[in-house]
Amino acid sequence: MKIDSVELRQLRMPLASAFETSGWREEEKTCIIVTLKGDSKSGFGECAVSQGPWYSYETLTSAWHVLEDYIVPLVLGKVFRKPSEIVGALAGIRGHNIAKASVEMALWDLLAKGESVPLSKMLGGTSHSIVSGVSIGIQKTREQLVDMAEKFLEQGYRRIKIKIKPGRDVDLVIAIREELPDTPLMVDGNGAYDPKESGSLARLDPFELLMIEQPFAWDDMVEHARLQRMIRTPVCLDESVASLSDLESALALDSCRVLNIKPARVGGLTVSKMIHDVCLGRRMPVWCGGLLETGVGRAHNVALASLPGFVMPNDISASNRYFKEDIVEPEFRLKPDGTIDVPSRPGIGVEVLEERLEECSERVKVFKT
Ligand code: MG
Repeated sequence: MKIDSVELRQLRMPLASAFETSGWREEEKTCIIVTLKGDSKSGFGECAVSQGPWYSYETLTSAWHVLEDYIVPLVLGKVFRKPSEIVGALAGIRGHNIAKASVEMALWDLLAKGESVPLSKMLGGTSHSIVSGVSIGIQKTREQLVDMAEKFLEQGYRRIKIKIKPGRDVDLVIAIREELPDTPLMVDGNGAYDPKESGSLARLDPFELLMIEQPFAWDDMVEHARLQRMIRTPVCLDESVASLSDLESALALDSCRVLNIKPARVGGLTVSKMIHDVCLGRRMPVWCGGLLETGVGRAHNVALASLPGFVMPNDISASNRYFKEDIVEPEFRLKPDGTIDVPSRPGIGVEVLEERLEECSERVKVFKT
């Protein structure tokens, strides 16, 4: 299909509540929605980048710059028959995976709509619903954390993840275990721990956590492997695995026993699927993480999580976990059994609401052939 136009649209939306990790706090959601048009159809992707270089080195400003000046010229007016072709087209751009992923995912949506198939089916998904967990940012008090976890469990969420940082870890896990002892629970350090603090991470070992996610820095595979040798709780990597070769390094070193796959982090769905396939072959459980996506990125994540290797609860919550009003219809809703339906309509399977896009836009640019 020939790409006739590319639209970049920067959005700013209030979050239902602020989200705080070990390293940063987000009061509002920013992103760039990418629309590719071809054959009278529109494909949507989300550049789920933060305002600043916290989760990744990419920022809202850097992503717009890389999209406008380097990615759009490689895509506009070009013909793509398979989504994987765009990965090759963008291979000359080093890094900037979150920017690349937005266009790659928009192409998946466009081609799936061109073939009138749901995105999940095009990816090889086998599930009609995905299991939903919830991620809770750092709260001011233990009581607030426990109240919030209780509220989400009542709504049906099947797993609680709590953000931790040095000095705010064992006490939080004890608080949850005392009040909600049987909760499927995991923790995420977002790279805040120094390897010298491995001792406090080892103290989490008796609490039957599903996993400890990314305690050490994004570029430190060796320390994660050392920790995994010290504890029986599985170590999960997130920030450290941005490519298939990163996964190979992690496997060779035994740096993790579980993997969080985020399409935005690895440059899109093509590489996500390759990573999934390797993990499935190695019997390493995977789950899909999130970056506070709007309904557009959420739809891509849901489609990916319908693949058979996604056997653990995903950080894919309902739209209302993050937004009073999403930009898609229907919004993603949590069912009482803690699952979210995989859309069955063509492409991402939800309608992007033009009016909502306009309301939230702070910058728009359209590129035409
Ligand atoms: Mg994480």
